[in-house]
Amino acid sequence: MAEATHRALLASLATASVGRVLTDTGDTDPFLWDWRRQWHGAAIAVVQPGTTAEVAAAVRWCADHRVAVVAQGGNTGLSGGATPSADGTSIVLSLKRLNRIRHIDPVNNTITVEAGCVLSAVQDAARGEGRYFPLSLAAEGSCTIGGNLATNAGGTAALRYGSARALCLGVEVVTADGSVWDGLKPLRKDNSGYDLRDVFIGSEGTLGVITAATLALHPLPGDQAVALIPVDSLDEAVSVFHVLQGRLDQQLTACEVMSGDCIKLVAGRFPSVHVPFAPVPAWVVLAEVSTSSSQAEACVLDALSLIPGADNTVVATASQDRSAMWAIRELISEAQASVGPAIKHDVALPISALGAFASQAEAAVALDFPEVRQMVFGHLGDGNLHYNCSPQPQCDPQRFLAMTNGLNALVHDLVRAYSGSISAEHGLGVLRRDEADLHRSPVERRLMHSIKSALDPQGIMNPGKVLPLQA
Ligand SMILES: Cc1cc2nc3c(=O)[nH]c(=O)nc-3n(C[C@H](O)[C@H](O)[C@H](O)COP(=O)(O)OP(=O)(O)OC[C@H]3O[C@@H](n4cnc5c(N)ncnc54)[C@H](O)[C@@H]3O)c2cc1C
Repeated sequence: MAEATHRALLASLATASVGRVLTDTGDTDPFLWDWRRQWHGAAIAVVQPGTTAEVAAAVRWCADHRVAVVAQGGNTGLSGGATPSADGTSIVLSLKRLNRIRHIDPVNNTITVEAGCVLSAVQDAARGEGRYFPLSLAAEGSCTIGGNLATNAGGTAALRYGSARALCLGVEVVTADGSVWDGLKPLRKDNSGYDLRDVFIGSEGTLGVITAATLALHPLPGDQAVALIPVDSLDEAVSVFHVLQGRLDQQLTACEVMSGDCIKLVAGRFPSVHVPFAPVPAWVVLAEVSTSSSQAEACVLDALSLIPGADNTVVATASQDRSAMWAIRELISEAQASVGPAIKHDVALPISALGAFASQAEAAVALDFPEVRQMVFGHLGDGNLHYNCSPQPQCDPQRFLAMTNGLNALVHDLVRAYSGSISAEHGLGVLRRDEADLHRSPVERRLMHSIKSALDPQGIMNPGKVLPLQA
């Protein structure tokens, strides 16, 4: 962009009542990198509105000047969706100052919050009223509700409570022309036309900016127990899940899986983490049981009695011990990030196909990419694996990254062969945009582009994310 145009845009933005405007490189740089530092962009400015009216003014200004808007919450996304393009023609719209809890209705079991509220703050606000907001992920101390809804985040409680979409009753959105749509209905039933709320959820900032949401709350669990169950294979992990779910039904509130290599990595990087197994087993299932009264331990022990060979299972009931077990699972992403580059796959499969998929993928990756260390974990009960790869210690990082396309093709071809999805919960962003588009039917592609052009006719909302730019 020409220097004079850039200066003129900034002068105009300064008079547009959009909230704070950051332009100094030192201030803007953190907003231009993604969490993994895999993408780096440029922007005319970072705008930090503090009210919905300021968000509307900012988007209206962008529409008037044909400037692209990249909405950003906690910037913990893993698909590059919140990073502006490198050409410097966008503004980053950081929603973090839009962080008020607007209303809690404990009788209706709802909470209305602004988009920039950090997820853990929403959980705390609900707990303060004796209610439970179950969405939970390892990034919950930094990610925002707006980002959670924009990516339809899953996390560890999706097995029992569903993904972010299932927990959202209504949204307030600033549309691509700067209008405000107040869709904050605190209703569990509402069949009054096309479901606009569901159009914006999962759209990764490409259709509008979510400024607030009304979320469904649940009763606080009365009692909880966590079990770590060692198993020899993912197939065996699936059998364990099947038995636990059959016995516990909705009392099984989480069922995760992690490979022994992931556990060893976490133990090596975070010495304070206690791993209650020596030697570390090939795989471990983490099962969480929640009950309304104090029976969680009895329930989990009863269910475990149906699993042959579950003698080495470790069960915790005290809050501190349960948190220590969860820490092993939740620190995997950070541990992997600390040992160099990673090639990640966020895949969903029918639960019945997980075992066969994993054993075929493991053998094929080991054969074709011997310098790769496979780091597999995920949300077993949702059929969602993070089939991640790191370099073996002797492998040069650049040589490793050159394997990206080959590894993606190997893993994703196998996912498709089992009727799976290459984007389970992290969204498409730029990371999976082109590959997802390649495998869309012409009908699906036409419908997707029709929605985009109807809601964002100028193409200014997070362009180049989710859908490839059209010529
Ligand atoms: C350690 C770690 C663990 C994670 N675990 C999980 C997990 O278990 N499950 C899971 O689903 N994800 C997980 N993630 C990914 C990430 O935390 C989620 O995608 C989260 O929902 C992103 O929220 P955010 O506020 O950081 O969004 P950002 O990263 O800021 O943005 C993500 C996308 O949403 C858009 N966006 C953000 N805010 C808005 C808004 N208000 N209106 C419109 N669009 C908006 C952005 O443009 C971008 O496309 C994890 C990430 C990390 C770093």
